[in-house]
Order: sequence, then structure tokens, then C-alpha cells
Amino acid sequence: MVTQECLAILNAISLPVVLMDGQGSIKAINAHTRRLLNDEEPSRIDALVSIRTESFLRMVRRNRYCAHLATRLIGPLAEYYPASSRVCLDDEWQDCYLIEFFPRDLVVGGMSRLSEIRRREASLQRSYVRARESERAALSQANQDPLTGIANRRAFDCWLEQLCRESRHNAFPFSLLLVDLDYFKRINDDYGHDTGDKVLCAVASLLSASLVRKGDQVARIGGEEFAVLLPNTDRRGAEDVAWRLVMALRSANKKTADEGCDERWVPVTLSIGAASWLPGLPLSPAALMREADQALYLAKAQGRDQAALLKTDN
Ligand code: GH3
Ligand code: MG
Ligand code: MG
Repeated sequence: MVTQECLAILNAISLPVVLMDGQGSIKAINAHTRRLLNDEEPSRIDALVSIRTESFLRMVRRNRYCAHLATRLIGPLAEYYPASSRVCLDDEWQDCYLIEFFPRDLVVGGMSRLSEIRRREASLQRSYVRARESERAALSQANQDPLTGIANRRAFDCWLEQLCRESRHNAFPFSLLLVDLDYFKRINDDYGHDTGDKVLCAVASLLSASLVRKGDQVARIGGEEFAVLLPNTDRRGAEDVAWRLVMALRSANKKTADEGCDERWVPVTLSIGAASWLPGLPLSPAALMREADQALYLAKAQGRDQAALLKTDN
């Protein structure tokens, strides 16, 4: 028996609502549904709502708090969707589309316009995509050097940590190069800071372009300092790559000298310190950085424009 109080509540709901008993038979409709059906009698809706009682009940029982009515509606109700985002057990009427009364003999199915649901879904999807995009942009900005566009110190530190972990796990060697431009202060002094910046960008591009193997990474880790990580590379390989980078700068200098002035380029050389980790040895990112730094110091001391490694016992 549907009480007057229950009907008053249904009429207060601003969605079209159909009230069903526990068997899935329609007991009442609210004012909104009645308007929609041109004041037809409740009995008429049975013909419009094609509910398979058994499956309906199974759904409600299986999912007490979140029944989802996949009921097919026809006629004037066809563009509505019997939504049931939540089952309300207490007094939470506001956003409940399916409400279960106790004892469990009455169920209210509220309906939203399909177009409205789709609009909301599309808008949710758009905000989700926007959120993901701005998250990605923020992340890439946080890892990018604003001047040269290559990775920054923060990204490099992450890579190094990760490479240490992976190399230890796989027992692969890897190498680290610390690259420092020679007498860069003079470039700033002689040509101005703006030209210095352009040279830094050109060197960053040149270093990136010279690293041809997949997995090799370059980052700007300081003013005129870069670092290169070479996975699966031993001392010999590291020395080869380091000299390749030194030679790339020499070629760029020669090309500019031969072909005339390129406003983005002034002659500059670089010194590189290399350090390698080999499986079986103790591994610490900080110790590896120290070793590469000492090798860089050696390269500077030996006259710059070259690559150096520290001597090892083996
Ligand atoms: P060395 O061969 O011993 O490395 O000499 P250097 O002159 O390169 O070394 P030093 O460390 O004395 O100078 C580095 C210079 O790099 C000083 C600084 O003005 C310049 N520098 C650092 N960051 C930037 C930058 O973002 N833009 C420009 N234009 N210059 C920078
Ligand atoms: Mg320096
Ligand atoms: Mg320098």
C-alpha cells in the first residue's frame, strides 16, 4: 500500500519516478512522470516499462547499494534512463535515483534524461582529459630545463637512481659522463650573456643529436654543465661516446670557421669526465658522480677539449 506520505515524497522529487514493489510491478508514479505520460494511469506504464521482473530483482539483490537498472523504456519514456546510482537507506533523498524502502517491498526508480546523462558523462570525460593533460604538462615542466628544453637536474637524479636499480638487478654495466664547457665565462664576457645562452642551447642540441643509442639520456645539470647516462655501457664504450661528443663540438667549430659566421655559434670546446659501474662492484650514485667529477677535473687539468677516465686497478 502506497501511503500519502510516500506519494508526497515522490512528488517532491524533481525527476520522473516510478515506484515499484519488490516483484518489479509498478505501484505508483510521481507527478513528474504523470505529466510526462499526459496524465495516464499508473497501470498504463506497465506497458511502457519493459522490466523483466526476475532480472530486475536479481540486480537489486546482488547490488544492494548500487543497483543498476538496465531496463528498456519505450514510448514517451524512451529517452529516459532508469538510473540507480545509489540506494538510499536513510534520509539521503537528494541524489538518489533508486530508493529502497524497508521492509524490502518497495523500490523507487528515478529516471534522468539520457541526453543529460550523456552530457554529464562527456563533460566528466573532458575534465578528466584536461586534468591529465595539465598533470602531464606540470610534470614535464618540472623535469625540463627552461633554457635548452632538455631534461634538468631533477630528471637526471631520477634517471640515475632508476638506472642504478635496473643495472644492479640485471647485472649490466652503465656509465656516466659529466660534461663541462671550457672557458665558458670568457664567452659570456666576450660576446654577452645572450650569446652565451644561445651557445648553451646549441650545445644541448648537439649533445642530444650525438647520442644515437636508444636509452642514452642527456640533461643540463648546472649552468654550463651537462650529464649523460649510458645504460649497458662499460668503460670502453663510455670513453668512445665521450670522445664522440668532444669531436662533435670540434666539428661544429670547424664547420663554422670554414663556412663563415653562424650567429648561434661561437667556438667552444668541452671537457668530459667519465665513470662506469661494473656488475659486482659496490654501487652508489653519489660515489659515481664523485668519480666522474674527478675524471672531469683531470680532463681540465690535461688541457681541456678532451675526455678522461680515472685509472683503475683492473
Ligand atoms: P672551465 O673551463 O674551467 O670550466 O672554465 P669556465 O669559464 O667554463 O668555468 P666557470 O665555472 O668559471 O664559469 C662557468 C660560467 O658559466 C660562469 C657563468 O657565468 C656561466 N653560466 C652559467 N650558467 C649560465 C647560463 O645559464 N647562461 C650563460 N650565458 N652563462 C652561464
Ligand atoms: Mg662548470
Ligand atoms: Mg666550464
